[in-house]
Amino acid sequence: MQFIDLRKQYELYKDEIRQEVDAVFQSCRYILGPAVAELENDLAGYIGTECAIGCSSGTDAILLALMALEVKTGDEVIIPDFTFFATAEMVSLLGAVPVFVDIQPDTYNINPELIEARINGRTRGIIAVSLYGQCADFDELTEVAEKYNLFLIEDAAQSFGASYKGRNSCALTEIGTTSFYPAKPLGAYGDGGAIFTNDGELTQKIRFLLNHGQEGSYQHRYIGINGRLDSVQAAVLKVKLRHFDEEKEMRQRVAQWYNEELGELVGKPHIREGNSSSWAQYTVRYFERDRVIQHLKDLGIPTAIHYPKPIHQQEAYADLGLDDKDYPISVSASREVFSLPMHPFLTREEVQTVAAGIKEALG
Ligand SMILES: *Cc1c(COP(=O)(O)O)cnc(C)c1O
Repeated sequence: MQFIDLRKQYELYKDEIRQEVDAVFQSCRYILGPAVAELENDLAGYIGTECAIGCSSGTDAILLALMALEVKTGDEVIIPDFTFFATAEMVSLLGAVPVFVDIQPDTYNINPELIEARINGRTRGIIAVSLYGQCADFDELTEVAEKYNLFLIEDAAQSFGASYKGRNSCALTEIGTTSFYPAKPLGAYGDGGAIFTNDGELTQKIRFLLNHGQEGSYQHRYIGINGRLDSVQAAVLKVKLRHFDEEKEMRQRVAQWYNEELGELVGKPHIREGNSSSWAQYTVRYFERDRVIQHLKDLGIPTAIHYPKPIHQQEAYADLGLDDKDYPISVSASREVFSLPMHPFLTREEVQTVAAGIKEALG
């Protein structure tokens, strides 16, 4: 069994993908050519924002958003303690200080009620992560951001395709960022990412920043980066996006099967009312997960842990001297969660095999 089956997907879309990729090769427009512009147009239409800007990765999408908002040395940015490292890393890379906030036990997303206590004169904004494919509490987050005049970014690397109270993930805040890493819900065949916004000025600035701050050739208005989306990846993504809604439904069906088959064996994902998940991960929890993971491994069933350490425990942040007791929910999540195979092409029989394996491990 595969944790994520990328081969099956390629077999299905192979003809379309080869055609689009070959068109890029033939055009010789390898850098910021028409494939990127076409994909951006499709992405903005799909999400419903004025603008979508392709870029080199989900990590660079976060970096570019923070650069556009002029985050600098000494600024503080509030982020969840339980996320992929890149969210914190890009804040630190700009010399700013990530301020970690504990999560909610049911969704694993940042707890908006804990944010206000962490705001001070240096706080510039909040990056909320929509973890495992479920959007964070953006009504509450927007309220606190507006009250203190902070920016609010959605790190939607895992939630492309999710919705929150009838609105699309990536379009919930002034800037939304996503990733096209192959294993994400909308994956490329290499690295890629995108930034979504309705703000024309920010869009312009981000377009300059991702191309060495250039506003015209060899006219550098800002210090930027090389953060462009590759044209070949854009061609792949154009095809994948056409099939995305169908894949989203298939993932939803797989999640439903897991929900049914797992009963009360383990702590299952809790999707809040008003949310629909993109199911980047189907993550469960159990207080003795190692035993279950080992048994599944013996049966040839792969699992993964997202994530084995909260951010505040990472060695890179040792100098902040943070204490586990301030992050009880993310600490316990990091000890108990594990993710089961999740992709659109899982069969009901495979889901039953996983559930039976878990039952045996616990029995
Ligand atoms: C994957 C991921 C990223 C980074 O995306 P890349 O495309 O791998 O750079 C950032 N944040 C979260 C929450 C992620 O899951």
